[in-house]
Amino acid sequence: MKRKAIEITGIVQGIGYRPFVYHLALSHSVKGWVLNNEKGVLIDAEGEDMALDRFIEGLTALAPPLARIETLKSRSLEPQGYPSFEIRQSEEASEGFTLISPDVATCDACLAELLSPGDFRYRYPFINCTLCGPRFTIIKDIPYDRHKTTMAPFTMCTICRKEYENPLDRRFHAQPNACPACGPSLRLVDRKGISLPGNALDRTLDLLVQGSIMAVKGIGGFHLVCNAENQGAVSTLRSRKFREDKPFAIMCRDMEEIRVHCDVHEEEERLLCGPERPIVLLNRKKGSSIAPGVAPFQKTLGIMLPYSPLHHLLLHGPLKSLVMTSGNVSDEPIAYKTDEACHRLSQIAGFFLLHDRDIHMRCDDSVVRVFRNRPYVLRRSRGYVPFPIKLSFNLEMILACGGELKNTFALSRGPYVFVSHHIGDLENMETLVSFEQGIDHFKNLFSIEPKAVAYDLHPEYLSTKYALSLEGIPKVGVQHHHAHVVSAMAENGLDGEVIGVALDGTGFGNDGTLWGGEFLRADLNDFQRLAHLKQVPMPGGSMAIKEPWRMAFAYLIEAFGDKAMVLELEWIKKRDPQTCSILKKMIEKRVNSPLTSSMGRLFDAVSSLLSVRDTVNYEAQAAIELEMMADPEEKGEYPFDIQEKEQPLVVDPLKMVRGVVQDLIRGHSPSRISGKFHRTVARLVVETCKRIRLDTGLDRVVLSGGVFQNNLLLALVFDHLEESGFEVYTHHLVPTNDGGISLGQAVIAHMRCFQCV
Ligand SMILES: [Zn+2]
Ligand SMILES: [Zn+2]
Repeated sequence: MKRKAIEITGIVQGIGYRPFVYHLALSHSVKGWVLNNEKGVLIDAEGEDMALDRFIEGLTALAPPLARIETLKSRSLEPQGYPSFEIRQSEEASEGFTLISPDVATCDACLAELLSPGDFRYRYPFINCTLCGPRFTIIKDIPYDRHKTTMAPFTMCTICRKEYENPLDRRFHAQPNACPACGPSLRLVDRKGISLPGNALDRTLDLLVQGSIMAVKGIGGFHLVCNAENQGAVSTLRSRKFREDKPFAIMCRDMEEIRVHCDVHEEEERLLCGPERPIVLLNRKKGSSIAPGVAPFQKTLGIMLPYSPLHHLLLHGPLKSLVMTSGNVSDEPIAYKTDEACHRLSQIAGFFLLHDRDIHMRCDDSVVRVFRNRPYVLRRSRGYVPFPIKLSFNLEMILACGGELKNTFALSRGPYVFVSHHIGDLENMETLVSFEQGIDHFKNLFSIEPKAVAYDLHPEYLSTKYALSLEGIPKVGVQHHHAHVVSAMAENGLDGEVIGVALDGTGFGNDGTLWGGEFLRADLNDFQRLAHLKQVPMPGGSMAIKEPWRMAFAYLIEAFGDKAMVLELEWIKKRDPQTCSILKKMIEKRVNSPLTSSMGRLFDAVSSLLSVRDTVNYEAQAAIELEMMADPEEKGEYPFDIQEKEQPLVVDPLKMVRGVVQDLIRGHSPSRISGKFHRTVARLVVETCKRIRLDTGLDRVVLSGGVFQNNLLLALVFDHLEESGFEVYTHHLVPTNDGGISLGQAVIAHMRCFQCV
């Protein structure tokens, strides 16, 4: 006979871990007790020697699918002859904290009940258990208990209560447990808010079949929904949402349906079916019946599987694929409160499918792609958040405020960095409020009182202004591209010095100019700018971001001088000479033409030169469409220079720009030119890294920045760097775009404030 005290940390609460321990104890005739405490789960167990060992092995080996066990410590105690095994009352949290589960997709057992006519939860859109259901989005406060969630107003009926209290039941302590008799329910209203009679779900299915656009309240917010195979409905949705061509995500009934439209590889299927249920970008098959308007000018479709019971019910009717795009107008944040949604979306949706369970935290769908057989996260939100990024060392408590576009913030504590859900572009009041409320919520959930705050150097970012407005706390300004690189270092567990390649649209540089084509010698604390893309003027400043043709013109002037205006180039011929001469003067006199070394702007320029995009309707559209049209088989490359006279080195692409122009004049196809351009940019990155290796001896390269959302470029750079003997690292856990920089900011602020002597 042995007795052990066992302490387990990680995600072990609210996911059926204690009932699992209870079962396991019974099956090994182990006696004692289990309880949740502030750190995780505490077990006191005694039994026969062998049986107790197997019990302890089982605690990790057989743990429920959603458990994430971080540590298991045990120590021996004097046996004391417990009569039975029991689940004891939780200890209230004091100064410790527990990890909180993200929202989890409907499990197989609940799905089976949902679809079986004999079950008393048949077609009940809010079915859940300890293995599935909403978590993060309904939690108002800690500890995670029903009365501190948005389920508080619903009193459990006798049956639900029995399940909830029975340690042998799948719904033991399932906080959102509910049934048709006692839980939330659906309501269908028109855009004036008038309820429609009849069964809300059946009517909704009818309306979708007829081509209606619906607003549907989900887990983390509202979706705008229509039949994905109905081009008419899709076009109407586009025009009403003021979203001209940014792709819509779709939701398909099952894997079989996804395979009708896209090629799916093993890792992609694993992601699609996982409990996080992100939107996965997949290569579209020719002849797919999804309306072309869903993702114009794209080779890919963003697809997810149903993740709530309501989604399953919407797709178990006549329709197999639905557009499921964020419930917002243009770039506003996703609507998540019923009244607000009915107001804001009334010009878009004809009907609203509502329910009466509040969403406490807005949380957008996550977006993921597969790169080299691993997930490559483009937006980390629902299903992933608030699970932290775990580092190999401890951080002081830090608040990192993130960037401006695709903002996330981060809060750190010990080895954990809690990177927030996708907040969005911090351009309006509403997103700013959401940002501030989010920070307060996370501080409360994880008992974090920051000892320092990190912010981006850009003085105009609202996140920066917020950080600077905080009183009585040390503030650390972090350079944008350094944050990118350290973010990738942190998630890869890298220490020491690396070559950081940060390519993106815009980031504020130490010298006050706009950076974005950067090669840094970086560690977790500091960096040195060793090389950058040649600076060119951005005529019109931020106008040049929305109008890539301005960048094309700037590059032509740089590459050809006055001769640019008389090139035998269609691009020049179709310009208005007067506008061009004004722009030329602006460039020459540096009027409203800030210098930038941005790689994103070079992509914009080439995109416009190839007549892909002169103006954009969403961020990075010109570059994305340039990538989509590239011929991946093209093997040619253009020349370029690395100017070594200066420090930092200047990577000069003007010979390439001249090459592109020559090829255009010769009548080469845009798809070949784009292929050649991508290969050249990859070559230029690799040659610059080799040059830096020569000087520094560094051979680890870290890739980050929004430009690496370009799959073709990322693959080329990765392959060529590896062929040249570099160790190459990029992102897998947080986005390579600005959604990832809060992680890097937190680490850098910690190093600067608390590590340096
Ligand atoms: Zn379930
Ligand atoms: Zn009930």
